[in-house]
Amino acid sequence: MRIAMIGSGYVGLVSGACFADFGHHVVCVDKDARKIEALNQGEMPIYEPGLSELVGNNVRQGRLSFTTGLAGAVAQADAVFIAVGTPSRRGDGHADLSYVYDAAREIARATDGFTVIITKSTVPVGTGDEVERVMRQSRTDADFAVVSNPEFLREGAAIRDFKHPDRIVIGTTDERAKAVMAEIYRPLYLNRAPIMYTERRTAELIKYAANAFLATKITFINEMADLAEKVGANVQEVARGIGLDNRIGSKFLHAGPGFGGSCFPKDTLALIKTGQDYEAPLRIVETVAAVNDQRKRAMARKVLAACGGSLRDKTVAVLGLTFKPNTDDMRDSPSIPLITALQDMGATVRAYDPEGMEAAREVLSNVTYTEGAYDCAKDADVIVIVTEWEQFRALDLDAIKAAMKTPVMVDLRNVYPPEEVERYGFSYTGIGRAPAPAGRPQG
Ligand code: NAD
Repeated sequence: MRIAMIGSGYVGLVSGACFADFGHHVVCVDKDARKIEALNQGEMPIYEPGLSELVGNNVRQGRLSFTTGLAGAVAQADAVFIAVGTPSRRGDGHADLSYVYDAAREIARATDGFTVIITKSTVPVGTGDEVERVMRQSRTDADFAVVSNPEFLREGAAIRDFKHPDRIVIGTTDERAKAVMAEIYRPLYLNRAPIMYTERRTAELIKYAANAFLATKITFINEMADLAEKVGANVQEVARGIGLDNRIGSKFLHAGPGFGGSCFPKDTLALIKTGQDYEAPLRIVETVAAVNDQRKRAMARKVLAACGGSLRDKTVAVLGLTFKPNTDDMRDSPSIPLITALQDMGATVRAYDPEGMEAAREVLSNVTYTEGAYDCAKDADVIVIVTEWEQFRALDLDAIKAAMKTPVMVDLRNVYPPEEVERYGFSYTGIGRAPAPAGRPQG
C-alpha cells in the first residue's frame, strides 16, 4: 500500500513510522518546513521512546520519507490519512476543524484514481460527512471514500500501543474502502488485534466516548482522594479495592493533580459542545470537566498549606512539567496552572523535567530551569513532584534534604510512601492518604 500521512505530529509521525514498519510505503507530510527539514536530517521533532530508531530503520529501508509537498504524496497514494491537530476553538471549546478541512480541500485537488481518505485526527460526529462535502465541492470528479479511523495511542507508549492496540475502529460502509483498510492493518489482524467495523458517525463518537470515560475515571478517584483525606482513608488502597473488581478495572484509578495533556481536556470540552448542539446534554462529562478545572488550583493550595499558609518569598522546586512521563508534550499540562498559581501566591519557582523544559519555556515565564532534580531542590522551601518520571521514583532523599532550605515534600503522584519520606525528616503531603481525623463531623 502507498500511504500519505497528512500531519507529522505525535500521531502522524508515530502512525506513519509504524505503517512503514508493517511494510507499506509511507510519505509523511507536514506544512511545518522546519519539522520536515529536521526529520530529513534524522532528528525527531518530538520525544517518544523508540521513535528515532523506528524512523531511522524505515527511512534506511526506503519505506518512509518526509515532505512538505502534499500534492505529490497524495497523487501517488492509495490511502491518505488526515492526522492534523484539532485543538479547542478559541472562546467556545468546540473542536477547531479548520486544519482538517484545509487538508481535505488540498487532498481533493491532488488525488489520482480511487483513494481512501481516513480521518485519524479526533473529530466530532459528522466531520466525516463534512470532509466528504468539502472534498466534493473542491473537485467534482474525484473518486474517493472517507473513513473514520480514530487513534487510541498514548504518548510515552505510542509505538507499543499502535502495534498492539486493544482494538482498531474503522468507520465506513464502503466496501472498496473496507478492503483497503483491511490491507493496511493486515499485520495487526494477523496478530489478532480486534478490528471493529462500524458506521462512520459511530466510529467518531467511540473516540470521544472513550476519552470522556477515562477522564471520568480519573476525576472520580481524584474526588475519592479528597474524601479519603478528610475521613482518614487511603485512596491507593481504595483504588486497589475497587480496581480488582473486573467490572471496574484497575487502570486510570491513580489519584493525582487532575488530568491534562493534548487530548482529554479538549476532547471532553468538544464532546460537551456536541451534546449541547444536539440537545442531549452530557451532564456527567460537564461535571468532570468542571471538577478537573477546579482541582488544578486546589493543588497550589495544597502546596500553600504544606508551607504553613504562606508562599511569599518562598522557593518551590517543581519536579516534572509534562502532563505525563516519557513525553515532551506540555499541552494543557497540570503543571502550568499549578506554577502560575504558585507564582500568584508569591513563590519563586525552580523546575526540572527530563524532556519538557524546552516546550515549557514557551508557556511559562519567570521559572528557573535546572540541570537535574538535586540542582532543582537547591535552597527550596518545598519540593513538589508533579510528573512521575522514573528518575524521580528513587531520589537520594538525604541529598535532596541537604540541598533544601526546609525539608517539605508535596507528592502529587503518590510516588513515595509517607513513612519512608518522613523517616528522612521530611514533612510530607501526598494525595488522599491523610491520618485519621479525631472524630466524625457533627451534624
Ligand atoms: P500535533 O499538533 O502534534 O500534529 C499535527 C501536525 O499537523 C502539525 O505538525 C501541523 O504542522 C500539521 N498540519 C496541520 N495542518 C496541516 C496541513 N494542511 N498539511 C500538512 N500538515 C499539517 O497533533 P497530534 O498530537 O499529533 O494530534 C493530531 C490529532 O490526533 C488530533 O486530532 C488529536 O486529538 C488526535 N490524537 C492525538 C493523540 C496524542 O496522544 N497526541 C492520541 C490520539 C489522537
